[in-house]
Amino acid sequence: MFKISSEAVLKKYIKGYLISHAHLDHVAGLIINSPADSSKTIYAITSCMEMMQKHYFNGETWANFGDKGNGYLIKKYHYQILNPEEETPITNTTMTVKAFPLSHVNPFESTAFLIKNTDAYALYLGDTGSDTTEKSDKLHLLWTAIAPLIKNKQLKGIFIEVSFPNEQEDAQLYGHLTPNYLLKELHSLSELTGKNALKGFKIIITHMKPPAENFLKIKAQLKRQNDLGLEFIFPEQGKRFEL
Ligand SMILES: [Zn+2]
Ligand SMILES: [Zn+2]
Repeated sequence: MFKISSEAVLKKYIKGYLISHAHLDHVAGLIINSPADSSKTIYAITSCMEMMQKHYFNGETWANFGDKGNGYLIKKYHYQILNPEEETPITNTTMTVKAFPLSHVNPFESTAFLIKNTDAYALYLGDTGSDTTEKSDKLHLLWTAIAPLIKNKQLKGIFIEVSFPNEQEDAQLYGHLTPNYLLKELHSLSELTGKNALKGFKIIITHMKPPAENFLKIKAQLKRQNDLGLEFIFPEQGKRFEL
């Protein structure tokens, strides 16, 4: 084991930021660490980028480290708008990204990012509710777009949220998923890929909300309801895993 300093991770290894939506639990770290950061690109869809410029990097609540918007422009960060479903290169890497809109308390938009590196893909979803609770078709459209990549084994895994255990009432979900709703969505996906294609497929569970006892509930519920034979991965801070 070799150790890399947090400064090196921030300045050297992180090549850019893909922002799924501008809620503070997703951007607070980026904002607070911006004075110590190196120059790089921030990628987001238009509505999210406008919120970053209006509420945070605006010369009032925080200095404007961006290259657009209000106040003195420090220009450490270059803002790169992502047009939905258009492949955009990620600067200083061999990767590209394609953005797909998600519904996170309809009509508020969050984003999924399909990352491509040579022939392999990974899919990350920002906060999202299920199509049922959001009265939306955003996840159905995303599953339709990525199903072929699962069938031909190019997609290596999906990062998706489960914020609450099944006990949470629908009215208290605020655009998030439970194990029940995640499994319901993955069953819709399986109708497009065939059930066999999802056996052993990696689903990385993100965004479990405290208290810690809920983490155990969510893990147990996912395990019990895993009739598709998926491989659920629960990432831990600082621990490496591979797709
Ligand atoms: Zn959110
Ligand atoms: Zn969140």
